[in-house]
Amino acid sequence: MSEKKKSKKSLSKSAYIRGRQCLKSLYLYKNRYFLRDPISYEQQLKFRRGHSVGDLAHELFPGGVNLKPGHASKYAKAAEETKLAISTKTPNLYEAVFMTDKYVAIMDILSLKNDVYGAWEVKSSLRISKTYLWDLAFQYFVMSELEFRPESAGIIHVNSEYVYNGNLNPFDFFTKVDLTKEVIALQDETKPAAEEAFEILFADSSPSIDVGPHCFDPYPCEFYSHCHKKHLSSSVLKLAGLSLESKYRLLLNENSGSELCDFGDEFLRRQYEAIKTRKESFDEGLIEELSENILSAVQPSFLHVLSTRKAVPEHVGDKPFTVVPLAAAIVCGEIVEFRSFENSDLPMQELLGFIDDIGSQLLVFLETDEFLPSDFYNRCEEKEIQLVNLYNYFMEGIWCSHVFSPDYSAERIRNSAMKSRSQYENRLALLLDIDKKKVENIPLSIQNYCTSNAIAVKNILGSIYENRI
Ligand code: SF4
Repeated sequence: MSEKKKSKKSLSKSAYIRGRQCLKSLYLYKNRYFLRDPISYEQQLKFRRGHSVGDLAHELFPGGVNLKPGHASKYAKAAEETKLAISTKTPNLYEAVFMTDKYVAIMDILSLKNDVYGAWEVKSSLRISKTYLWDLAFQYFVMSELEFRPESAGIIHVNSEYVYNGNLNPFDFFTKVDLTKEVIALQDETKPAAEEAFEILFADSSPSIDVGPHCFDPYPCEFYSHCHKKHLSSSVLKLAGLSLESKYRLLLNENSGSELCDFGDEFLRRQYEAIKTRKESFDEGLIEELSENILSAVQPSFLHVLSTRKAVPEHVGDKPFTVVPLAAAIVCGEIVEFRSFENSDLPMQELLGFIDDIGSQLLVFLETDEFLPSDFYNRCEEKEIQLVNLYNYFMEGIWCSHVFSPDYSAERIRNSAMKSRSQYENRLALLLDIDKKKVENIPLSIQNYCTSNAIAVKNILGSIYENRI
């Protein structure tokens, strides 16, 4: 590769992190981008969350100069502006750009205190991960290459103990953690890792790296389908509830033709059979147990709640990432009821009121705990509302089917019982946070989404009884 061509590529923080996860992923991203899988909605949602929290963190260092380059072609100009702003001791800088002939770093916040700069990265998470430390160490490395060493380096992240009182105070909402010592200690490994990652951008072909747990750590890799081509029919990779290490260990056994070890878990064994044979199986014992629970009610109702989970809370008393109900549908006999809580100050209370109005003795739903409104079980218990979450029965193996693989997510299971729906509906909850323009008629779409899901839960219960063996 000519020096001229090399000068056209630089390694950014995200490319560096990608390289630390897997050099092949970095090579493919820069040279064979078309091979990637579509980016998942979950991942898009995370990116989106990061932007809004980043802007809020600027309020911790008010009156700063924003140097954010709109596009990569503007990096050089922004780097010049950064240099100038630092030389004139501008107190607070947002998105300051540092560029060498190989690397580019964009520092979220630089703040001048006692005549020296401190560098801050902002994260929309509740804790600091190993990846975040790598990330900060890379930024510090690039700044050092330009002979600019901030006096301190740290991470600003969301304070898990914060409770919204009606007035969003960024000084309470965020936690600042000084990581200068850790970042300096990481410099010895950062320099060679950055150099290795930079060189891979110009390799003639993709490095030979086998698939493994690293394909998901720290992020699910977009080149999964490309690299797993010869493993896509493997049953073990589709097992839900098995650790990544175990999956890839079993994959080796499967590929070498040796006997798979005993799963030591009946649900895993039955999932494996269902995926391999494409035949469904039911657990009679669990069906009996479920029947006993449900028959205690004269007529069960079927519920679906659409919830949102935002880093910045919007309702008094909520913490960051509180799961808040946005709308719900209940199916009772032939009646389908829907209610939206979008404009409510007390959405959880409104949800309980909606459930009360239906007057059902027992509510059946199918949802993972992380998507249920926070404190849902306790609040229902206080109101003596009896609940049955079908998802727990699925996780024990009441119905094993290849259709629910590879994740046995509540959404996937419910979708299996929906006959017709608009393309976006199965992702509506996430889309609403990403780009409202993608959904034409939001109120109607939310209603359709909730009611189709509630009906799906009813149909799933029917299918369990009909197909029992
Ligand atoms: S799928 Fe795995 S092996 Fe392939 S590029 Fe991604 S991380 Fe690397």
